[in-house]
Amino acid sequence: MQTQACQALDRAHHLHPFTDFKALGEEGCRVITHAEGVYIHDSEGHRILDGMAGLWCVNLGYGRRELVEAAAAQMAELPYYNTFFKTTHPPVARLAEKLCDLAPDHVNHVFFTGSGSEANDTVLRMVRRYWALQGKPEKQWVIGRENGYHGSTVAGMSLGGMAPMHDQGGPCVPGITHVRQPYWFGEGRDQSPEAFGRACAAALEERILELGEDNVAAFIAEPVQGAGGAIMPPASYWPAVKAVLAKYDILLVADEVICGFGRLGAWFGSQHFGLEPDLMPIAKGLSSGYLPIGGVLVGDRVADTLIEAGGEFFHGFTYSGHPTCAAVALKNLELLEAEGIVERVRDDLGPYLAERWAELGDHPLVGEARSLGLMGALELVDPATGERFDKALSAGNLCRDICFTTGLVMRSVGDTMIISPPLVITRDEIDELVRLARQALDETA
Ligand code: PLP
Repeated sequence: MQTQACQALDRAHHLHPFTDFKALGEEGCRVITHAEGVYIHDSEGHRILDGMAGLWCVNLGYGRRELVEAAAAQMAELPYYNTFFKTTHPPVARLAEKLCDLAPDHVNHVFFTGSGSEANDTVLRMVRRYWALQGKPEKQWVIGRENGYHGSTVAGMSLGGMAPMHDQGGPCVPGITHVRQPYWFGEGRDQSPEAFGRACAAALEERILELGEDNVAAFIAEPVQGAGGAIMPPASYWPAVKAVLAKYDILLVADEVICGFGRLGAWFGSQHFGLEPDLMPIAKGLSSGYLPIGGVLVGDRVADTLIEAGGEFFHGFTYSGHPTCAAVALKNLELLEAEGIVERVRDDLGPYLAERWAELGDHPLVGEARSLGLMGALELVDPATGERFDKALSAGNLCRDICFTTGLVMRSVGDTMIISPPLVITRDEIDELVRLARQALDETA
């Protein structure tokens, strides 16, 4: 199909996610036609390095025949069957076993969903049911973080702390509140990172006491905030938060939708930070984005209670444990494991990216260059003052658009530029990524 014909159809009929429909209608979309390795290709013949792995998900890179074949074989055998009403099938049983094998020792069960948002809806219902079964139905409040992201369903966006999302489409789910995020560059530079990390944990404790310690069910957070701007917490943050949650017997939900499956150089971000979450929502890298699938890894404390209490959990999705998606996810995990990709991120690619990415810190437009594993961020600042731009200038969007035309997908969150490339990226491709990022910074300045 010709580029213009595709754009015209799209403009006429397609409402895109997280998009200004009017502005897009005027500009038209770039048409992506195929992809291989870490590169996507558009209909005009451009090859673009995908510095975002799609939407933080194509961990294994594009064009993996093994995943295509796993999908085709499963589709031929049993394309769909549900897991309601006392039925199961081999791919979902095998995937459940594999996930529990990879997860921390205290995790031995998984509830499947179709996406990360559905996983977080599941979390909300599960934690409240857990406390009801424990004879503490008053434990209802869930605390999330400002600028956290947990999805776009009503429960997902309510758990997330993105104010513009809360402002649209009616009230949020009641019983959810948000505390400050451990975003040192944006909100904490009047103190050391370590003091700021402790202050954020203290703010959590203060909120728990305001709500009443007997009324708080769970705290939900991404090990590293992704969509909020690749925000790596100060080293003091997670140990202090863990201590607060233990003190008041509050469940920890670590949203692993981005951090899971190798992004930070461990199978789960929780393992990198030494967390033992009660619940871990997963999606994205679970199938490297080849098919939609998500789930919640459920720790023994919660799973044992739900199982032993008996009685139906009135919750589930048509595509919970979809056999074709499960077969692809299983193959994806087997490949990540067989090729030692998580270890390579930890021992080689993550440290190499850290070294190369840090070099961008000398650019006059960059106030901070940070990375962890294969996730990185650049904080854009006004070269004249070294301070953050007035939001209206939108340097981030300009930089993102320049990147795209020069051949790199880098995303902007306000004036924070972020990357999260496929985990199969090579050192040479990291060099290319850094070179293209610098070129875009030069052209933005
Ligand atoms: N949780 C986190 C941390 C995410 O980053 C996302 C999506 O970006 C979600 C949940 C929602 O996942 P999905 O878009 O698959 O519903």
